[in-house]
Amino acid sequence: MDVDRFRVKPGKPLRLADIDPAARPGFEGKKADGVAALAELTPQLDRLQELFYADGRHRLLVVFQAMDAGGKDGTIRSVFEGVNPQGVSVVSFKVPTPDQAAHDFLWRVHPHAPGNGEVTVFNRSHYEDVLVVRVHDLVPEARWRRRYHHIREFEQLLVDEGTTIVKFFLHISKDEQARRLQERIDDPRKHWKFSHADLEERKRWDDYAAAYQDAIHETSTTQAPWYVVPGNRNWYRNLVVATVMLNTFQSLDLRYPDPPPGLDGLKIT
Ligand code: ADP
Repeated sequence: MDVDRFRVKPGKPLRLADIDPAARPGFEGKKADGVAALAELTPQLDRLQELFYADGRHRLLVVFQAMDAGGKDGTIRSVFEGVNPQGVSVVSFKVPTPDQAAHDFLWRVHPHAPGNGEVTVFNRSHYEDVLVVRVHDLVPEARWRRRYHHIREFEQLLVDEGTTIVKFFLHISKDEQARRLQERIDDPRKHWKFSHADLEERKRWDDYAAAYQDAIHETSTTQAPWYVVPGNRNWYRNLVVATVMLNTFQSLDLRYPDPPPGLDGLKIT
């Protein structure tokens, strides 16, 4: 599957409204075929992640952003299903604590940047500081606008020091969000996911869409690209994300480190 079509090319205009969240380009099959295709990819991902961990020369940061009910949790669960938990960590960024809020917006983020051999998944991220912060007017516009620059520089710093970065925006439609939120109300097993705040945020859908569009456009660079992934169909979204992850690992020229000397013919007695 050609996933490069989802990569946001630096400097090119981006119109989220032109990207169909229900589309599934490059995959003609049905849902069952998509699920089967993912089942073939995840063992490969698991193997590559182990190699990545053993190799220990690279660091990988994966960022997930989406509207509420956009599917971040489900994607992370499905794509990273079988990986070795030793080498992968997920960090969720919530409303800043008073201590975090008393610092610059990257202060709480940098300590979570991955180390050698580590894959770190951000479930929300420093992008909240140009999204929810913009929509709710939490800091003056001049300040959040400068953050695009700071984010680009911060990510470039990580890249220059040996980190690979991929960023995913899971793109759902407003109707699909309604369907998913309704499900959280109707299905008792999903009540725990429901928050009244989500309904308030839904009223600001257009503001969020504008904020996402600008943030992605401003910060999709060659070295830290954004992928806008059609998100209405979970199985298609998972397939795209897994494919990008696989390509990313494969681009790294991973290898097992040299074995300790003297292993040849060594017999355990
Ligand atoms: P999620 O929706 O990711 O599953 P929560 O329901 O706990 O998790 O939502 C986390 C909330 O924290 C979101 O509403 C998000 O906008 C908010 N948040 C995250 N980072 C910031 C930030 N820097 N400033 C203000 N709010 C933030």
